[in-house]
Amino acid sequence: MSENTIFAPVSVLPRVGEKKVEALNGLGIKKVIDLLYYFPYRYEDLSKQNIENLVDGDKAVLQGQVVTSPVLSRFGGKRNSLRFKLDVENLIINVVFFNQPYLRDKILIGQEIAIYGKWEQSNLSLVGSKIIDQAKTGQLEPIYSTTASIKQWSLRKLIKDTFTNYQKDLVNIVPEEIRLPLHLMSEAEMLKKIHFPVNYEEAQVARKSAVFEEFFLYLSRLRWLNKDEDQEGVEVNYDLNKLKKFIETLPFELTDSQKKAVNEICYDIKSPLAMNRLLQGDVGSGKTIVAALGIYAAATAKMQSALMVPTEVLAAQHYDNLKSLFKDTSLEIALLTSATPKAQRKNILERLKTGVIDLVIGTHALIQPDVEFKNLSLVIIDEQHRFGVNQRRALRVKGLMPNILSMTATPIPRTLAITIYGSIKISTIKEMPRGRLPIKTLWVKSPDDPLIDRAVQYELKNDHQVYVVTPLVAESEKIDLRNAEEIYDQYVKKYPEVEVALLHGKMKAEAKEQILTDFAAQKSRILISTTVIEVGVDVKAATLMIIYDANRFGLSQLHQLRGRVGRSSLQSYCVLVGNPTNDIAKKRLELMVKSNDGFVLAENDLKLRGAGEVFGSRQSGEINFKVGDPLEDQKALQLARSAVDQVFKSDPLLENEANGNLHQFLIETKDYDETID
Ligand code: ADP
Ligand code: MG
Repeated sequence: MSENTIFAPVSVLPRVGEKKVEALNGLGIKKVIDLLYYFPYRYEDLSKQNIENLVDGDKAVLQGQVVTSPVLSRFGGKRNSLRFKLDVENLIINVVFFNQPYLRDKILIGQEIAIYGKWEQSNLSLVGSKIIDQAKTGQLEPIYSTTASIKQWSLRKLIKDTFTNYQKDLVNIVPEEIRLPLHLMSEAEMLKKIHFPVNYEEAQVARKSAVFEEFFLYLSRLRWLNKDEDQEGVEVNYDLNKLKKFIETLPFELTDSQKKAVNEICYDIKSPLAMNRLLQGDVGSGKTIVAALGIYAAATAKMQSALMVPTEVLAAQHYDNLKSLFKDTSLEIALLTSATPKAQRKNILERLKTGVIDLVIGTHALIQPDVEFKNLSLVIIDEQHRFGVNQRRALRVKGLMPNILSMTATPIPRTLAITIYGSIKISTIKEMPRGRLPIKTLWVKSPDDPLIDRAVQYELKNDHQVYVVTPLVAESEKIDLRNAEEIYDQYVKKYPEVEVALLHGKMKAEAKEQILTDFAAQKSRILISTTVIEVGVDVKAATLMIIYDANRFGLSQLHQLRGRVGRSSLQSYCVLVGNPTNDIAKKRLELMVKSNDGFVLAENDLKLRGAGEVFGSRQSGEINFKVGDPLEDQKALQLARSAVDQVFKSDPLLENEANGNLHQFLIETKDYDETID
């Protein structure tokens, strides 16, 4: 591969050494093309603003003349402030920079400067965050999501330089016959307007092209790789009698939807075609048992199953639950995660290969190259939306064509599912298990509301358990950790008579597992947690959930969290704590109080997502598209679908010159199909 193509690895770029490559890889950027397609998630408006239009708290750029020389005060440690006065259109305002002492030399009396910062109306101050290059005012500055290993400015510069250097090499991947009638931008124009737009409108328009292209490429890849769709798979000749007998031993009766789903799955695994089925059902509707029955059926035919979940916490939970479900059977079950000790891992791998193990449960550690099966016949992917859709491909790459069952609590409309997944079949669990009482949801504004303590005391008195959830702040996990710890301390002090436990994402897998096991066994009674418990965890005696800063969560996330209670016939409660200032966040909390129905909430979630950000982080439910949202941008998705049909109908192998760039793109990025996100 030549060095100057956009498909070259980022290491070919100037001043990108080993460390930077690593940092970029951490962001999912491996090739030059990934860097060019790494889009900002928002922009900072660097155009000068009129001071009269500002309200307290606005972020703005003000330009004026420095009237006093800057005074630096040190507060000890690295903390300091730099203060001076600025004349902005004859209004003298105060400017303060915290902890940027080096700016002092840049601020000279009489000089005209532009400063970006936060406006404080009460004392006519601008709390500066940076001085802006005057040539830049009147522009939007792209803000990329990044990590501690690569700084914002550095990433921005790298993207800018790379775009400048590669601009001339950019070809249009979407064929002209598609691009022109739809008035889509050329690759170069689109990238320019997304990374360096003159105004928001320009970015919005460019986004449309980007969304179409993303869907088009995704669907093209699907089509390209699925030339062999409906492939022969593994036939599972299970023992129906044994399965029926096992069902009779269950402590509850299956709901009608569960029975139907089990029948559909059994029919599919027995057929010679490889199953590709999605099982959707609201949180708590009982998807696990359906999967377990599929696993049991396969085991009666002496065939292996794998259950893949997004987190180690969930893997451990499933392991415990299924172990107890299958305790009177001969099923061999193993747990395999990245935390499994080496020797044990080796042992498990050996027993998987020889077919001793019937079911292995784990995270994506399960599809690492060294994991070999004797006769893998069924793969279940729980909480599907946390994975990409590439597991199936990853398994195929291993030369396996097992039956696949994906499970999700965030439903998507059928037509959409088919558009995204191709030939997927869907089973839906429509009703909750009998005897469930709807969770009662309350909303209080203040964390000091006495209702919270009363609710906790009441549930503890009845021998129930309590979840306390605090938000995970994407930009600063440290802050998040402190919050959880603070709340933990509070609860420990308040409830000395019971054991309070703390669970967060930064803990080692074994520690997490232990904490959850203790909670499930009622050793600890209150569990303070960040959102690591969001998916799947099942503790029946937990009947109360307090969610602090509930306004910081999205609707579907709140619903997922709430689904951790109300998992038995006991009345459960959810208390949302938060005092949102914006109407959308208020509306969300109101909806949570009003509805327990995941489908209704998902629909409303969609309506509530306004035009706010151009490229927000989107929780589309299923696939993690970078720009497009398969729900919000349904029209673009349908258009892309027809376009792909059109291209492949006339040129199924992409041999025409007009489709050459698309062909090359699919080949050059082929390895992407084998990676799991
Ligand atoms: P989810 O669909 O959210 O994954 P689970 O599979 O964890 O839900 O099931 C939630 C709880 O409901 C579990 O404790 C499970 O044992 C129980 N359950 C499942 N099916 C039934 C049923 N038909 N009757 C009663 N309880 C059930
Ligand atoms: Mg589940």
